[in-house]
Amino acid sequence: MTKQLPNHLRRISHIFVDESMQDSLIARRVQRRLAGTDKANLPWTVVSPDMDRIEFSKGSEQALYLKEYKGKFLRFCPGTKAYHCCGYRIIHIGENCPMACSYCILQAYFQDQVLKIWANQGDLFSELAEGFANQAQRFRVGTGEFTDSLALEHLTGYSHDLVEFLNNYSNVALELKSKVVDLSWMDAAKRTDRILPAWSMNAPFINEHEEFDVSTLRERLSAARTCAEAGFRVCLHFDPVIHYPGWEEGYAETIDLIFDYVKPHQIAYMSIGSFRCMPQLTPIIADNFPKTTYIYDEFIPGLDGKARLLRPLRVKQFSFIVNRLRAHGMDKQLYFCMESTDVWNEVFGYAPKDFGGLAKRLMGQSFDDQSQ
Ligand code: SF4
Repeated sequence: MTKQLPNHLRRISHIFVDESMQDSLIARRVQRRLAGTDKANLPWTVVSPDMDRIEFSKGSEQALYLKEYKGKFLRFCPGTKAYHCCGYRIIHIGENCPMACSYCILQAYFQDQVLKIWANQGDLFSELAEGFANQAQRFRVGTGEFTDSLALEHLTGYSHDLVEFLNNYSNVALELKSKVVDLSWMDAAKRTDRILPAWSMNAPFINEHEEFDVSTLRERLSAARTCAEAGFRVCLHFDPVIHYPGWEEGYAETIDLIFDYVKPHQIAYMSIGSFRCMPQLTPIIADNFPKTTYIYDEFIPGLDGKARLLRPLRVKQFSFIVNRLRAHGMDKQLYFCMESTDVWNEVFGYAPKDFGGLAKRLMGQSFDDQSQ
């Protein structure tokens, strides 16, 4: 029987590959994995590596572009100095995402349906080998900044390769952040204490009405439990928290559900972030997701230029979520994504400077330092 690709990959209808990447491991693997599926005969187009941009516009159909990337693979997260940033480093493996969340910032970055994967993995690994060479320096890294860490894993096996490569670097903790379930990277990990599988959490209403082609919350939590049982510590992220009618019941339901699947000590850390929006994103959301209403709530421009919910509303939501999580035994693992000292103090009763800084604490938690 012909196999089908997972739901979130079903819109891919064309593969583009740089001329120089035709024989790359990734290109050969994608070809092999498509063979035997109902997408075995997708058109492949070889393009010049100098092409800046692929023109592909076929309604909701998507193209996968296996590209030779010439830029920096290891980067700093583009946080802002105005708020407490978590000091994360990004391993850049590609751009864009096959799923569709109404609030996704990638819509403003990449206004096309082209999913890019950097197929020159050898160059990526050389740069990482150099960057991570000093074993006395620790790194907390992730791939889920300009894409979803595992969305294309079924075709590319990229995270599996990365996990395998990082087996030689005990000074690196890798977070794999996703909204789908793909655990095929697990068998590559020699050290369960250096890989942090992570899933986004939200209220059920948001999962059902604002996130498309993604896994359900129960599927994500069930995957988190599988990882925890195998010895990995997981990360969960409430980001973006959205202000909608009935949010209290919704977030309470999800928080309670989490602890049906995992125990607090199996969670390395958990972020909470309110919906933030660059000014140019609002009309894009309105256009792409006409039923979405939360964008018309009460927002003010933040110090980073992004619109954010009025502070009293943010604090009300944060306090509710934090108190509920604390009642389940969570405490030090909780942190805010991009919030001010005042908001930290108001909700937690302390601020990052009281424990030596957020980046330091998260580094310790990634590496499971018992003092954190
Ligand atoms: S899964 Fe993440 S990267 Fe993909 S559309 Fe949703 S928010 Fe964006």
